[in-house]
Amino acid sequence: MVPPASNMDIVPDMVCPSCRAVIPASANFCMQCGKNIKKTSPSTTIARQIFIYSVSFFLAPFGLGYAFIYLKQPDTKSRTIGIISLVLTVCAIVLVITLAQIFMKSLYGSLDTLIY
Ligand SMILES: [Zn+2]
Repeated sequence: MVPPASNMDIVPDMVCPSCRAVIPASANFCMQCGKNIKKTSPSTTIARQIFIYSVSFFLAPFGLGYAFIYLKQPDTKSRTIGIISLVLTVCAIVLVITLAQIFMKSLYGSLDTLIY
């Protein structure tokens, strides 16, 4: 099935990320495997990545939202961003808990020296 040349400049074809079938860029899902081709897939630019990683680390619970959005994407790059974001979120939470424990210990430690 070769599309007429006149169609070429209207909708350039794209490749299905799942089965590699050539499908029209205007299609919402793959005709070959039925995979949903999301038009509004999240951006994977460097600036966007830095933003997501920053949110994941400094605003840990909010980063989880981004992490899951990217983890749900079909392409490897988005999934990698999701995984990194998830790891950063977990690291940030562990760090906060560890720092809180150290802080509490030092706080009670100084209280102990004050009392006794
Ligand atoms: Zn497909």
